[in-house]
Amino acid sequence: MLNLKRIPVREQPADVRRGNNEEVCLGYNQDEATQEAVRCLGCKKPRCVEGCPVGIDIPGFIAKVKQGDVAGAAAVIARDSALPAVCGRVCPQESQCEGLCVLGAKGDPVSIGKLERFVADSARALQPAASTFAPKNGKRVAVIGSGPAGLTCAGELARRGYTVKIFEALHEAGGVLVYGIPEFRLPKESVVAKEIEGVKRLGVEIETDTVVGRSVTIDELMRNEKYDAVFIGSGAGLPKFLGIPGENANGVFSANEYLTRANLMRAGQPDADTPLHTGKRVAVVGGGNVAMDAARTALRKGAEVFIVYRRGEKELPARAEEVHHAHEEGIHFELLTNPTEIITDEKGWVCGMTCVRMGLGEPDESGRRRPMEIAGSEFVLPVDMVILALGTSPNPLIAATTPGLDTNRWQCIVANEEGATTKTGVWAGGDAVTGAATVILAMGAGKAAAKSIDDTLQQP
Ligand code: FAD
Ligand code: SF4
Repeated sequence: MLNLKRIPVREQPADVRRGNNEEVCLGYNQDEATQEAVRCLGCKKPRCVEGCPVGIDIPGFIAKVKQGDVAGAAAVIARDSALPAVCGRVCPQESQCEGLCVLGAKGDPVSIGKLERFVADSARALQPAASTFAPKNGKRVAVIGSGPAGLTCAGELARRGYTVKIFEALHEAGGVLVYGIPEFRLPKESVVAKEIEGVKRLGVEIETDTVVGRSVTIDELMRNEKYDAVFIGSGAGLPKFLGIPGENANGVFSANEYLTRANLMRAGQPDADTPLHTGKRVAVVGGGNVAMDAARTALRKGAEVFIVYRRGEKELPARAEEVHHAHEEGIHFELLTNPTEIITDEKGWVCGMTCVRMGLGEPDESGRRRPMEIAGSEFVLPVDMVILALGTSPNPLIAATTPGLDTNRWQCIVANEEGATTKTGVWAGGDAVTGAATVILAMGAGKAAAKSIDDTLQQP
């Protein structure tokens, strides 16, 4: 008989986790994972796989979980994903694999993300056998950026026998996984660092504190350091702003800066050299994952927090689980609300934000209903800090220092489906090409580029 209810996953209670930075979701244990795996029908034409951007054999790995074979399940996932413990935690499963699971028509879809996480966490001690790697082929590839795109591309190429070095601008590897997504959603030491170690075990070298375009250019890497190919996975770290009066006031942050200070510079810790400023009442403008992360970080620093978003609850682009957790933790949602001005006191600090209420009109080019201002609905939200989470675009530095590398009008690097750019020998993928997107899409792009680099460099 079909079991239409998923096995619930254990979580820290909302009133406890508000006061700590520990991971919210505690994951399945062996028993719970087996019970959840039994719900999977093992479909002959699995729709869930169609929804996975890297095509993981989902019924294949779930079948191994049913048999209690965690190592076997991890091996199935490893064929298509280098970062399963990360993806199991942060992929928007409800709009990908789980969104297409047949069980979803009548009840709860299989909890694929939680099962992936269980497998990755349980199998972490197991290392790939060295014999599965190709022998060194004498070719060298430089990878720019150590986010999911760069790590995946580097890992894939190392497996195929290439000598790969990653150049990373920051002092720690991991990209958004370390500087953006907070500890309470993605633990750094026990998860991200371990997955990076896995890539290093494949032989990949990572040089941090190296800004390509400043420390060295792509042409220099190819001409002087004799790299046979370059992959650009430099992400989209340049924040967007609203362009409203008061945006330069003291107490206005981009979410990128706020989260980088909190996560990477450990600024929330009492002995930090660069303490984190957090107000008492904080408005976070935006409705995506970045907005939820900034809001829930500010909450954990003791603030009362308001998400200000110009569309409604249904249109919130964040993962459903993050919105649910934010509600549970007591974040206020000022939906259908748009800021028009940030108000400052006599010393130039934020003391309020003027907003208008919005209605929703016909769908716009993004398919979502267009927000429209309601005349006369202006009001002031009394806040002493504003965090802007309005999206990001790629930093123009690399394109500006690389002749022949074309970008589009959003500063994104132009590349085909295989990641080949307009410059010979240079590939690109992830947010640097698509603009801000998702971890799994960045990984998919890194993987596709690795294949294309291999195909090109193996040509006689
Ligand atoms: P990044 O992860 O941005 O990595 C790029 C790396 O390149 C960085 O380390 C950067 O320092 C480095 N770099 C940049 N320029 C240079 C240079 N000139 N020289 C050397 N190195 C350079 N996605 C999800 O799927 N689920 C989520 O829940 C989710 N939550 C998110 C929360 C936040 C706060 C943010 C900011 C993003 C979130 N995303 C989420 C999006 C996801 O993290 C990104 O789509 C993904 O990390 C993109 O990977 P990437 O490898 O292309 O770039
Ligand atoms: Fe299992 Fe759902 Fe995928 Fe079918 S669609 S194989 S039930 S996870």
